[in-house]
Amino acid sequence: MYIGRLFRSSDLQWAWRAAFLRCIQSRRRGAHRWTHSGGSAYRAVIFDMGGVLIPSPGSVAAEWEVQNHVPSGTILKALSKGGENGPWMRFMRGEITTGDFLQEFGRLSSEISKTTVPVDSFFSLLTSKQVAQQFPVMTEAISQIRAKGFQTAVLTNNFYLASGKSFLPLDRSQFDVVVESCLEGVCKPDPRIYQLCLERLGRQPSESIFLDDLGPNLKAAASLGIRTIKVNDPETAVKELESLLGFLLHSGVPNTRPVRKTMEIPKDALQKYLRDLLGTQTTGPLELLQFDHGQSNPTYYIRLANHQLVLRKKPPGTLLPSAHAIEREFRVMKALASAGVPVPRVLDLCEDSSVIGTPFYVMEYCPGRIYKDPSLPGLEPSQRRAVYAAMNRVLCQIHSVDFQAAGLDGYGKQGDYLPRQVQTWTKQYRAAETSTIPAMERLIQWLPLHLPRQQRTAVVHGDFRLDNLLFHPEKAEVLAVLDWELSTLGDPLADVAYSCLAHYLPSSFPLLKGVSDRDLTQLGIPTAEECFRMYCLHMDIPPVENWNFYMAFSFFRMAAILQGVYKRSLKGQASSASAEQSGKLAEFISNLAWDFATKEGFRIFKEMPAAKPLTRSCHTRAGPQSLLSPTGTRSYSSVSGAPPAHTSKGALVFSVEGLSPQVRELYDRLQRFMGQHVYPLEPELQRHQASVDKWTPSPLIEDLKIFNCSAPDTGNMEVLVRYGTEEQKARWLAPLLEGKARSCFAMTEPQVASSDAANIEASIREEEGFYVINGHKWWTSGVMDPRCQLCIFMGKTDPQAPRHQQQSMLLVPMDTPGIKILRPLSVYGLEDAPGGHGEIRFENVRVPKENMILGPGRGFEIAQGRLGPGRIHHCMRLIGFSERALALMKARVKSRVAFGKPLVEQGTILADIARSRVEIEQARLLVLKAAHFMDVAGNKAAALDIAMVKMVAPSMASRVIDRAIQAFGAAGLSSDYPLAQFFAWARALRFADGPDEVHRVTVAKMELKRPT
Ligand SMILES: Cc1cc2nc3c(=O)[nH]c(=O)nc-3n(C[C@H](O)[C@H](O)[C@H](O)COP(=O)(O)OP(=O)(O)OC[C@H]3O[C@@H](n4cnc5c(N)ncnc54)[C@H](O)[C@@H]3O)c2cc1C
Repeated sequence: MYIGRLFRSSDLQWAWRAAFLRCIQSRRRGAHRWTHSGGSAYRAVIFDMGGVLIPSPGSVAAEWEVQNHVPSGTILKALSKGGENGPWMRFMRGEITTGDFLQEFGRLSSEISKTTVPVDSFFSLLTSKQVAQQFPVMTEAISQIRAKGFQTAVLTNNFYLASGKSFLPLDRSQFDVVVESCLEGVCKPDPRIYQLCLERLGRQPSESIFLDDLGPNLKAAASLGIRTIKVNDPETAVKELESLLGFLLHSGVPNTRPVRKTMEIPKDALQKYLRDLLGTQTTGPLELLQFDHGQSNPTYYIRLANHQLVLRKKPPGTLLPSAHAIEREFRVMKALASAGVPVPRVLDLCEDSSVIGTPFYVMEYCPGRIYKDPSLPGLEPSQRRAVYAAMNRVLCQIHSVDFQAAGLDGYGKQGDYLPRQVQTWTKQYRAAETSTIPAMERLIQWLPLHLPRQQRTAVVHGDFRLDNLLFHPEKAEVLAVLDWELSTLGDPLADVAYSCLAHYLPSSFPLLKGVSDRDLTQLGIPTAEECFRMYCLHMDIPPVENWNFYMAFSFFRMAAILQGVYKRSLKGQASSASAEQSGKLAEFISNLAWDFATKEGFRIFKEMPAAKPLTRSCHTRAGPQSLLSPTGTRSYSSVSGAPPAHTSKGALVFSVEGLSPQVRELYDRLQRFMGQHVYPLEPELQRHQASVDKWTPSPLIEDLKIFNCSAPDTGNMEVLVRYGTEEQKARWLAPLLEGKARSCFAMTEPQVASSDAANIEASIREEEGFYVINGHKWWTSGVMDPRCQLCIFMGKTDPQAPRHQQQSMLLVPMDTPGIKILRPLSVYGLEDAPGGHGEIRFENVRVPKENMILGPGRGFEIAQGRLGPGRIHHCMRLIGFSERALALMKARVKSRVAFGKPLVEQGTILADIARSRVEIEQARLLVLKAAHFMDVAGNKAAALDIAMVKMVAPSMASRVIDRAIQAFGAAGLSSDYPLAQFFAWARALRFADGPDEVHRVTVAKMELKRPT
């Protein structure tokens, strides 16, 4: 049943029906909230279709865009493009054919997203049987409305399908009147179509209620005098409709239906069993319904005499090992009830399969309210907070149960919960695997290597989510915790992480609504971090450091579950058509899990002590086995001669084809991300950099901020990781890694030749527990950025010490008094906003002594350690600029014609292209080799290779970009193309992090030391 909640999230809705009835009755008594109680003035209810009776195109689009990597919002933008005369409205007025519409729609979508959008696939999904299904709550409401003698109509903006039929996936017999825009040639919000509908109903506007999800359509109806209801979610809308009509729209048990053919159970046998169980006075017919979406364990509603019960049974057919353990659910609920945990009262477990075909158990009806939407619509912020606090409290209550005293001693193995869980879910996933999901493969390798030590053993619920809790209808109190199928003894923190899943899922996420795109502060909902903190506080335990691991594991498990449902749906064993969607979603969720694994990786990295570098002992050889990649394409690799522990880091790969599947997947994702999100923004970013707001970070970059690998932040992070104390890391490294703060590095001084760092003059003086700094710095990159919070400052603590022990580095908060930014410097007229390169004066700036890094006199040593990784990053970026420049050049020379033929046919252009390709490849190989040495032998051992690439890459890039500029003609110098900016950056990098000459000196000196 646990997984069923992903699909229906409310199959125990029946449970709060009684409470709801009570609530309605008491409200009626209070009267003031129920404006139309009793004799209603209304006689007809008019329903829009998409978004009211069936899912809206917007919600289908949101899901489809996620799954097809189409930028979010593209479909809706394309649909609204052109307004009244746009293709969508013309299509809905029946003026154009499906083919013409799709062509126009595809063109607009691609224009908006700057990528090809397979709109045919969206259209098929929108009109598929699987998606275009009427909401059960609406079906029930319509039948109640008609039973009371009211009229019903559907008034829809719809269209013709390619088959020539209009798109109306509804049972027409539910409505007295059906008005379709494509047949009438008029669309909402045109008043004529509402009037037409009223005429056919024979009703006045004041006698009608109209439900739609779109504001303009409602506004038009309201202006005619029709009462309107805005539909955000069907269930809330039905409640509003109930209040207007003055009667209930749920006759039976919500979210139930007649028992499916394949899920039938022998009623006579069940009735006999229940009579034996409940006593002979239990007479009368047995009413049996099935909850809508029983995915895991089919669940039934039973009414027999005055008893209302729920029966849960194992599904028929061959089952995955250890799944569907309803006997365990029964046992744990029984034990926990005695221990005071709120759970439904279980009556009996019947393990005898001969009674109804499979084992089952029966429990009592439990009135209450289930919150299906974690954003808790309709509640006040303080009520929302109280609901989440109650959820947290009940979890603490479960975890505080003395399981031995409760008789649950052998309910699960003690200890090693996570290793066993990872193993179990890996097995379950493997048993259900239908194709390779790269993130799952990575997680299967990563999780066992990063298992935390279990601190406590407790009863864990295993599927602890808001919609598994039955709340008191009037206050924030949990009346019953449901769905115990996955419960066992284990690590309670896994439950805490699982309870936060919705925090990381978007509200448009199909199957399980999330709140990741909602403003939690405004809603009053605690963040996931706050939930963790609240839990630790209640349980009186220290803060949980590694909760990203627990989140990664929780999402991994969810992905494995979804894959299981998908596999069963392929076999026709799962009981819902929407199970098929779960296959695609398994991949989405596994990517989320991997994001958390990456975050946990960063945390561990942050805490790692500086690694001991190896001595330089690597050589390159081409292994015969590495020449042919598994795909059959040629690739090249070298194998390090370093000790085995380091060779495990892998061979040097020279080509995209040679990448491992995991890295290849990352590479492809990156390419897609650049294509979809980064390149299209370039012109806008350039405009921002030239605008008056240039010193404020562009919101576009803020939105996209995912790489967090800019200079000088990465270099500064390296310094803190390698040389910072725990306190320094906690204060400065964490916000930098999280991308919440930026930083700068102040070494270069205008008055001295700073390519020789020993020359710098700024002073660091010790004074009463503080260091006082004075100095004049320039070319301090990033200092202008309003987010810059930290400056790593290099100055002299002891001018009398040996030449390379005079300097020290200090962490200087940017808001310390005495720091004066004099001006931004420009590079070929470009100011590189919002980070900029500033000229600064430090005048009597006082910082606490604990801000010293590594110790006085260690500055030179730190500078050496810092610059290696920073330099190679610059070189990697330069290879990127060069590739971009060459790509732009190739496109330009193919389309530009001079002297009667395209430029590409000119011999000099061909020669330039060839030179550029060769030079890029030469530099790339050197960069890859240096990076490989850094990985396997450490930065110090790779010093020669780093110096070589820093000497080669900027000049190479300058030449390649210069050739591209030349091929573009004057346009290449303009800001219409990124080439001029690339050139300026490449040229500047012949100075930044040391001028070329200094690196040449390093290379030459090392070469001279080599034995001849
Ligand atoms: C875009 C950009 C960003 C920068 N960001 C930062 C930053 O964030 N923080 C920071 O502290 N600094 C930064 N710098 C400064 C940079 O590190 C220095 O410019 C560089 O170290 C050279 O120092 P200098 O400008 O004082 O040149 P000088 O030391 O005056 O050298 C001038 C020239 O002398 C020649 N020369 C120097 N040494 C030798 C030699 N051994 N043999 C032969 N010729 C030699 C070279 O041609 C050199 O260009 C940045 C520079 C640029 C352009």
